[in-house]
Amino acid sequence: MCAIVGVYGSENAAKNAYYALFAMQHRGQESSGISTANGSKIHLVKKRGLVTDVFDEQSFDALKGRCAIGHNRYATAGNDSLFDAQPVFARYKLGEISVAHNGNLVNKNEVRNRLITRGAIFQTGMDTENIVHLIAKSQEDALINRIKDMLKKIEGAYCLAIQSRSKMFVIRDRFGIRPLSLGKLPDGGWIVASETCAFDLLGATFIRDVRPGEMLIFEEGCEPTSEQVFEPDYHPCAFEYIYFARPDSIIDGTNVYESRLVMGKRLAKEKPCDVDLVLPVPDSGVAAARGFAQGLGVPFEMAIVRNHYVGRTFIEPTQAIRNLKVKLKLSPISSLIKGKRIAIIDDSLVRGTTSRQIVKMLKEAGASEVHMRIAAPEIKYPCRYGIDTPTQTELISASQTPQEIAQKIGASSLGFLSIQGLVESLGSHRQYSLVSFDGNYFAGGSAESPGCNDLGT
Ligand code: 5GP
Ligand code: MG
Repeated sequence: MCAIVGVYGSENAAKNAYYALFAMQHRGQESSGISTANGSKIHLVKKRGLVTDVFDEQSFDALKGRCAIGHNRYATAGNDSLFDAQPVFARYKLGEISVAHNGNLVNKNEVRNRLITRGAIFQTGMDTENIVHLIAKSQEDALINRIKDMLKKIEGAYCLAIQSRSKMFVIRDRFGIRPLSLGKLPDGGWIVASETCAFDLLGATFIRDVRPGEMLIFEEGCEPTSEQVFEPDYHPCAFEYIYFARPDSIIDGTNVYESRLVMGKRLAKEKPCDVDLVLPVPDSGVAAARGFAQGLGVPFEMAIVRNHYVGRTFIEPTQAIRNLKVKLKLSPISSLIKGKRIAIIDDSLVRGTTSRQIVKMLKEAGASEVHMRIAAPEIKYPCRYGIDTPTQTELISASQTPQEIAQKIGASSLGFLSIQGLVESLGSHRQYSLVSFDGNYFAGGSAESPGCNDLGT
């Protein structure tokens, strides 16, 4: 999770970064920050809260310069201090530097312990600070070589925007796990962003996705240059398509909404049920539910209303608040549901908390049967590459079969999309990161190693 943006060569760099972060608010709601560079100095504004709360006109007076990088941070349990906001700014031998990072470094503890042994001090739990330290400690003369030095020492998932007082460097890890796209702004400036929905808001033209293992270098007075730092080994995160990304975004040429429709259709083929009505769990289940209803040839209704002033359910770290929040957020329309056999579609099942509440809610609204369908495979392993999945013991599918879970959440039946069904829905031409489903930690880490729950971004 988390969103990053980088703007270069734009008169309105800070404002453009701001609107991009606003469009990508769904990727992180805990804190937001922008730093700008004007050739001689880096300015930074960051705070806890939503994008619209963090920045005001005063911020933009301070955020001067034609280069801006920005970040939205996703809440992770227990670690939500102000210090964990990004970008991370530092002064070092070559001057000033600012770093924004989306992803999760799997070797962060080893790297940090090594740095600490040699006397480094840290202000936050974020792995992004490792990156700043590694750049500062490198013996290379030029920043670009210091960055390359640093890249050799980090492992895992990262999209990085690194800013000096005059340049910007953008890097995507060789697996291309998290999305990152390049676009051109109407004023001639360049923009990179986690999701293309940021471009749409700004009227920017999509150029292409940043390649796995690629570094883009932005300098005043020249076109950006590209260097392939690592051999690509492309493994885009399937969960971006399933849940994270906004439906209007396009990742690697595939529109997110359309891919969810196809997943829903495939789910109808794999796990059909005899029902009168198909409902989504809004908002993230809507596209898949449309596909499921089309696949079954059964009517679709938005019979659960969502209160949009409540954030995503996972944002609150404690179980008690999570339980309450489902009710705050979702409410059924009883007249549509009463006496009917219902199929309820959600994009994913993680802890089973939301699902249990929803089944109960639908039964109380008079549903005669509630069949739950999930447009993703069973989540059995914690992701170590930037998704805040809980520990394995909290993942309900890690220890229980669909039948057992159905009983637990009170559903008449429960069905998941198969891994093959997911891959074929997204297109078999890519090799996806499916780590939550198959436990293949191809980029390092393991089910036991600490994930982004404690230190990540
Ligand atoms: P559960 O019913 O298992 O407690 O939660 C599943 C719900 O959580 C689904 O509606 C899904 O959209 C949502 N979800 C899945 N992954 C994440 C995540 O990483 N963050 C947030 N905020 N919600 C998630
Ligand atoms: Mg949801």
